[in-house]
Amino acid sequence: MKGEKAYSGIDGFRIAAALLVAAIHISPLAAWNGTGDFILTRVVARVAVPFFFMTSGFFLAKGTERRMEKLAAFTKATLRLYLISMIFYLPLNLYMGYFNTKLFLPEFLKDILFDGTLYHLWYFPAAIAGAWVSVLLIRRIGCKKAFIAAVCLYAVGLLGDSYYGLSAKAPILKTFYDNVFAVTDYTRNGIFYAPVFFVMGAWTAENEGRRSKRGGLSYFLGFLLMLILMTSEGLILREFGLQRHDSMYILLIPCMYLLFRWLLFFRGRRREMLRDMSMVIYIVHPMMIVVVRMAAKLLSIQTYLTENPMVLYLAVLLLSGLAGILYCRIIREWKKHHPVHLPPEGCRSWVEIDQGCLKYNARILQKNMPQGCRLMAVVKAGAYGHGDAATARCLNQAGVRAFAAATIDEGITLRKEGVQGEILILGYTPPFRAKELRRWRLMQTVCDYEHALALEKMGTNLQVHLAVDSGMHRLGISVDDVNRAAKVFQMKHLKITGIFTHLCATDSSRQQDVEFTERQIGTFFGFLEELSGQGIVLPKIHVQSSYGFLNYPDIDCDYVRAGIILYGADSRTDTCVRRKLDLRPALALKSTIASVKKVYAGESVGYDRAYTAPSDRDIAVVAIGYADGYPRSLSCGKGSVLIKGRRAPIVGRICMDQMMIDVTGIPGISAGDTVTLIGKDGEEEIPASEAAEQAGSISNELLSRLGGRLTYLS
Ligand SMILES: *Cc1c(COP(=O)(O)O)cnc(C)c1O
Repeated sequence: MKGEKAYSGIDGFRIAAALLVAAIHISPLAAWNGTGDFILTRVVARVAVPFFFMTSGFFLAKGTERRMEKLAAFTKATLRLYLISMIFYLPLNLYMGYFNTKLFLPEFLKDILFDGTLYHLWYFPAAIAGAWVSVLLIRRIGCKKAFIAAVCLYAVGLLGDSYYGLSAKAPILKTFYDNVFAVTDYTRNGIFYAPVFFVMGAWTAENEGRRSKRGGLSYFLGFLLMLILMTSEGLILREFGLQRHDSMYILLIPCMYLLFRWLLFFRGRRREMLRDMSMVIYIVHPMMIVVVRMAAKLLSIQTYLTENPMVLYLAVLLLSGLAGILYCRIIREWKKHHPVHLPPEGCRSWVEIDQGCLKYNARILQKNMPQGCRLMAVVKAGAYGHGDAATARCLNQAGVRAFAAATIDEGITLRKEGVQGEILILGYTPPFRAKELRRWRLMQTVCDYEHALALEKMGTNLQVHLAVDSGMHRLGISVDDVNRAAKVFQMKHLKITGIFTHLCATDSSRQQDVEFTERQIGTFFGFLEELSGQGIVLPKIHVQSSYGFLNYPDIDCDYVRAGIILYGADSRTDTCVRRKLDLRPALALKSTIASVKKVYAGESVGYDRAYTAPSDRDIAVVAIGYADGYPRSLSCGKGSVLIKGRRAPIVGRICMDQMMIDVTGIPGISAGDTVTLIGKDGEEEIPASEAAEQAGSISNELLSRLGGRLTYLS
C-alpha cells in the first residue's frame, strides 16, 4: 500500500505558475506602473517556467530505477503535447501569415527545435532537451558535477539574456552570440536554461530526506529574501540597459531552490486536476488573448476589455480556466471508460484499486436505500482483497460511517489505521478479549445465548449487536428463543445497539428459495414484534447483505450490510437480480510477462506434463501463481487472461509462483508486458465473477483469497 502522501504544495503552485506565465504575456499592470509591471512580469513571474522544469526533474529522478524508461515516457508525453499545441495554433499561425516567410523551412526548423511555432511553445522542446541533458549529465558525472556543468551552461545563457549588454562589448563574445542567435532566438532554451533546473529538481529528489532538518518557514523566508534581491538584480540590469531579454538572472537559481524546498513541505491528497488545469492554462492562454481581443472588437467594447490590461488578463484567465475545467471533465469521463494504470515500478504482480469506483458504488447503494437506512460497509477479509484499511478510509471520505469486520483483530487494525465510525465484529470473539473490544470501540456480535452470558460475566461494558438465527443455522439466538433473547436485553454490561439476522439464499430465484427467504424475513420480524410485546425497545435492525438488498429491497431496517456489491462485483455470472444497479468493479489483478518461448508440436508444458502442444505454439510465462491467490483450478485452459487487449488461455498447471499462457497469434509480446487476470484491457474484460466461476467458486472467495505477496496500488 502506498502510504506516501502526494506533493500538494507542488500541485498548488502549478496553478500560480500558469497564472504568472499568462501575466508575462499580458502585462496586467502596464497601464498603471511600468516598474511595477516590470517587477511582476519580468522578474517575479520568471520563477514560473523554472518551477515547471524543476518539478519535471524532481519526478523524473524520484525512485532510482528505470530512469531511462521514465525519460523516454516523459519525452513521448511532452512531444505529444507539443504536437497537439502546434496543431491547435495552426489557425492562428495561418491568420498571422506565419507560413508566408520566404526562408520558411529553416525558420520553421529553428522554431520546431528551439523557439516554438508560437511564442510560448518554446517550452516543450526546451523541456525535452533539458531533461535529456540533465539525465545524461547525472548518469555520466553524478549529481554534483552535473549541477556545476549545468550552471556553466546557464552562465553562457545569462550572457546572452539579461547580461547580454556585457557580452555585446566583447567582440569574441559578440560573434559567439551572433552565431547562437542565428539558430535560436534566445539563450533561454533547452541547452543553456533548462538543464540547471532539471538537475536541481533531481538533486532535491535525491536529498528529500533532509527536508525536515530546517522548518518550512525558513525556506520560505529565504525564498522571499532571494526574490527581493533578484528584483534588485533585475532593476539594476534594466537601469543599465543590459538586458537583451529578461528570463535569466543569477539569483534565479537560489530563488528556485528555496521555493521548491518550501513547497515540498506541503503534503496531502494528490490533485491531478491542478496539474491538468495548469497545463491547459499554459497552452491555451495566448489563444484566449486573441479570442478576447476579437470579441471586444466585434462587440465594440475595446475600451472596457482590451485597453485595460488588467481586465484583459482576468478575462483571459477566466476563459483559460473554463477551458481547463472542460478538459478535466472530458478526461475524467474518458478515464472512466478507459482506465489506464502504468505498471508499477519493479512490481511482479499487483492489485489496482480504483477508489473512485468504491466511492461511487457506496453512493449508488446509499441512494437506493429506503429513507433512514444506512450502508454498513462489510470490509472483512481485507475488504474482499481490496485492502481493508485503505477501503474503509476511502469510504469514510465518501461519508460511510458504519463498517463490519469478521474478527476483532480486523477491527483493531481498522481503528489503528484511523477508521472513523461504528465497527461491528460479525464473528465470534472469545470473551476474555472484552477489554480490547471496549478499548478499540468495537461492537461485538452476540453469537448465541451462551456467548452473551460469557461476555456479561467479564464485567466490561460493551456495545453489542444480537445475532438472530432465522433459518441459516450459523450464528444467532434462535427465533424460537424469544425469552432468552429478552434476558440478554436485561444484562447489565451488554448494551444492545443492534439486532440482525442473516439470509442464506437471497441470490437464488428458485421458487422454493424465494419462499424460504420470505419465511426467514417473516419469522425475524415476528420475533422482533414479540420482543417489543415484552416491552423491549428495539435497537437498530439489519437484515440484508448484498443479494438480499438487490432481491428483497423493501425491507424496513436501519442498515444494509453490503459486501460484494460494494466492490462492484457479482458473486457469480448467472445470478439474476430483481434490481439492477450500475455498479463499477473497483479491483483489477495484473501481472507481468517473465519470459516468452517457442514450444514445438508434441512438447509438453509445466508440471505433470498436463499440456502437450498440438502444433508449434508461442508460450509466455506470467509472474503469478496460486500462492498469490490465483486459483490452481484455473489450470489447463479453464481460465484465461488478457494481454494487449486479447484473450490468452492458461496452458498446463498453474504453479505456485508462475503460470504459462498461450500467446500464439498475438504479436509483439515480450518480457515486462502487462497481463490482466481480472479487469479490463482494451475492449476485453474478465470480471471477477467469470474467473471465479471457471475456478468453480464465487468471486467472494476468489477476491478475498488474493495473496499477501501482491502489491496494492490505489
Ligand atoms: C460477509 C457477510 C456479509 C456481506 O455479504 P455480501 O454477500 O458480500 O454482501 C453480510 N453479513 C454477514 C453476517 C456476513 O458474514
